[in-house]
Amino acid sequence: MAIFSRSTAFTRVTAIAAQRAVHAAFAWMHNNPKTLIDRQAELVAIPAPPFGEEARSNWLAARFTEIGLTGIHTDAVCNVIGIIPARHLPADSTGPVVVLSAHLDTVFPAATPLRPTLSRDNGANRLAAPGACDNAAGVIGMLALAQALVQSKVKLAAPIVVLGNVGEEGEGDLRGVRHFYEQPALAGRIAAHIVLDGAGADSAVTQALGSLRFQVTINGPGGHSFTDAGTPNPIAAMASALATLARTPLPEKPSTTLNLGTIRGGTSVNSIPESATASVDFRSTSSDELLRLEVALHRAVEDAVDQTNAIAKHLGSRSRGSLTFAIKRIGDRPAAQLANDSPILEALRAVDRHLGIQTDLRLGSTDANIPIALGIPALSMGAGGDGGGAHTLAEWYSDKDRETALRRILLLAVAMTEWAAEQ
Ligand SMILES: [Zn+2]
Repeated sequence: MAIFSRSTAFTRVTAIAAQRAVHAAFAWMHNNPKTLIDRQAELVAIPAPPFGEEARSNWLAARFTEIGLTGIHTDAVCNVIGIIPARHLPADSTGPVVVLSAHLDTVFPAATPLRPTLSRDNGANRLAAPGACDNAAGVIGMLALAQALVQSKVKLAAPIVVLGNVGEEGEGDLRGVRHFYEQPALAGRIAAHIVLDGAGADSAVTQALGSLRFQVTINGPGGHSFTDAGTPNPIAAMASALATLARTPLPEKPSTTLNLGTIRGGTSVNSIPESATASVDFRSTSSDELLRLEVALHRAVEDAVDQTNAIAKHLGSRSRGSLTFAIKRIGDRPAAQLANDSPILEALRAVDRHLGIQTDLRLGSTDANIPIALGIPALSMGAGGDGGGAHTLAEWYSDKDRETALRRILLLAVAMTEWAAEQ
């Protein structure tokens, strides 16, 4: 798009930043840091383990109502959706939209004690609690932007769909955003997608690190360790398969990793186990490498099971039967990369130039994997402030300079509505 070439994007962003309503939105964000951090403390006190996000979804839907979003609804998987309309368009318009999203789920199991503590630190507010940064920072940033845009009546060229989604962390496998993209009502209408995840204001994830995860199960007849000796052992086969897999050569470029994550099996030291299970995780920026590793896994397991069965057969009548195996895919995040001249990147560069920020482009596995793999201009970025201890009980967040990041996201979102409307 000529309109979003490197030089014109800057003119466009400067014009947006000069609008009176945009100034009013910036002023609201500048004047309300306490409202935001208090809301953040309220949010982190609500548990949101993977597959248990409902209480947080309800909280978010109530905030959407307070702020005055339209078309608020919670879908079948507990994603919460609201709309900031483009006021010159009819409410039932089916034109392009821009999505602004943040994931609601945390990595913490339901029983984790969540006792948020607020303090002052170096002129900023500091919140300590599991999930304070990942992703309460994203959710609160998204709410703040929605509130500032609605209250200040910022003119949007296309509606912004605000999405609090489930299922980003761990075995959630991006199910929230995946489900969102399967909605027929939005099919083909999403022109751009901005994901807010964690803190920071100087980087954006534009390369989607893909991953494939598998659970391997090997079953056998089991038996007494002495009287049934010779019966094939699922743990022996599993150990052999995993040892082979661990020796698979991995390229440095495209960046590719392999992890043997868990292993379980057996009931007691003097029993031949009836089953063994293991889970493995492959990650790569290349879908070809992921496929190669999937093939290597199947080969390693099949060979190990065949060999173990062959040895048992060789021992003759003492074997009570043979081993079987199953390999189940438990995670699949697509690998993809945003083009360097993607309109959303041109717009972000223009915004950052306007604000005097240097953007660092990174590789990551985020909700943006789904739209990037669909060819939609999308990225994942921090919602400002600073944070640490992500995925630990010592997680913290500081709202120091959150304001700059919120301005950055607001300008980017408004610029993308202009781009969307011209498609
Ligand atoms: Zn996150």
